Amino acid sequence: MSLVVMKFGGTSVEDPAAITRAAAIVAGRVAAGKQPVVVVSAMSKVTDQLLRAAAAAAQGDRTGSLAIASRLRSRHRDTAFALVKDSAALINSIDENFDSLDEILRGLAAILELTPRISDLIVSYGERLSSRIVAAMFAERSIAATHVDARQVIVTDSQFQKAIPIDSAIEKRAAEKLRPLVSQGKVPVLGGFIGSNEAGITTTLGRGGSDFTAALIGGAMGAESIEIWTDVDGIMTSDPRVCPDALRVKVISFEEAAELAYFGAKVLHPATILPAVKKNIPVMVLNSRNPACEGTRITSLAPHCSSPFKSIAVKKKLSIIDVVASRMLMTHGYLKEIFDIFDRHKCPVDMVSTSEVSVSLTVDSNEKLPAIAADLGRLADVKYEGRKALICLVGEDIRGQNGMAAQVFTAIRHINVRMISQGASEINMSFMIDEEDADEAVRSLHAAFFKDPDPAIFDVEARKPLPATSEQLTANS
Ligand code: ADP
Ligand code: ASP
Ligand code: MG
Repeated sequence: MSLVVMKFGGTSVEDPAAITRAAAIVAGRVAAGKQPVVVVSAMSKVTDQLLRAAAAAAQGDRTGSLAIASRLRSRHRDTAFALVKDSAALINSIDENFDSLDEILRGLAAILELTPRISDLIVSYGERLSSRIVAAMFAERSIAATHVDARQVIVTDSQFQKAIPIDSAIEKRAAEKLRPLVSQGKVPVLGGFIGSNEAGITTTLGRGGSDFTAALIGGAMGAESIEIWTDVDGIMTSDPRVCPDALRVKVISFEEAAELAYFGAKVLHPATILPAVKKNIPVMVLNSRNPACEGTRITSLAPHCSSPFKSIAVKKKLSIIDVVASRMLMTHGYLKEIFDIFDRHKCPVDMVSTSEVSVSLTVDSNEKLPAIAADLGRLADVKYEGRKALICLVGEDIRGQNGMAAQVFTAIRHINVRMISQGASEINMSFMIDEEDADEAVRSLHAAFFKDPDPAIFDVEARKPLPATSEQLTANS
């Protein structure tokens, strides 16, 4: 039998209609003889709202915080009521969950201190609730669904808000808690994103982490494939919200997909790929609103593509830090000292560029920046500036192509480029610009590089015909 992990993102479980579509998709897999394990995100926007409720409580706004929880309670109750005929037990469990959430928020409003551990506990309600509703609804539609609390399976360390999973423990728990259900023909339904440390305290895997849960379970159980069901047709040549004529990429390599995810293509969580790569499990990205579309297949090796790039990612809300020190120039250990400072602040660096006297680095804009700059200031002169964006072009076939940089920078010749990087991974070329220029840059690059895309790799049939020019219309008449 073939085990398939199916992950449905926030928009794919956002309301009764979406959950009904997800049920039909899972039922289709069961009918085709597959054994699904289902992972779901919180209903769309719920994670943000829970974080807002937590922040409000921590600032002493008890009423505001409880009002957010109360709206969430109604949304979950209404969804359960609409989907499940005999909903009393489900509604009861939703109410119990919200009663305990309210209690935590009241406590927080009294203590006025939000720790990462409490934040994880509060935010975990999103996936705990959505998975219960989805499991109950699936059972109603004759899918043999069984709810499993993901915190009993996804074992992590104790880095709250970005916990690191412990593969060996997850493998053991999956064998104990999931495998027997699957063997009995049941469909386990779990929340993504959440886990617990060895002491059983709730943790989370970082924003967007439900994809990661799916890959961890797929890896632990040796799944035949992992399906990421979302709200777009697959991995596209750029974010379709930025570039409406983006095309679906039919097949992409693990390496390329990881690079895109890391550099901001929100469609996949950056770490998703790793557990799947290790076990060579294909990952599919599919559209729950258009299940007939074959989506994107992520495989260990991508076939040759005649277009240089597969996709263009953009990562916004970045800051650039310039460290200038003529004294320390070429001093042995200088870069190490700089990176040690970032390490101490647990701040990942995206891009680095060095010159004779200066080092420029880019990082996610965050509240630690002033403290990092102060520490760097002990070594050298430091300047930092926010509202930057990183544009990243990804493709296996950049390697060894002459004139690629010239073509890229010609396409955006009207835009001021602050930093450039190429060669680190051979499959990406990236550069930093002002955030306000980012969308325009993506559209210009897309127009330049996806004029004549390789039909073996890109879904060119879905391309809308360009409007005829007035000259063509005259010629045709
Ligand atoms: P989910 O809730 O299903 O996890 P996400 O919102 O996390 O969905 O990711 C899907 C979104 O990612 C899409 O709606 C799209 O706007 C965005 N996105 C960014 N870059 C890309 C890309 N290259 N291909 C497809 N989608 C992308
Ligand atoms: N609900 C979580 C988030 O919004 C995890 C996910 O959806 O992947 O970040
Ligand atoms: Mg996501």
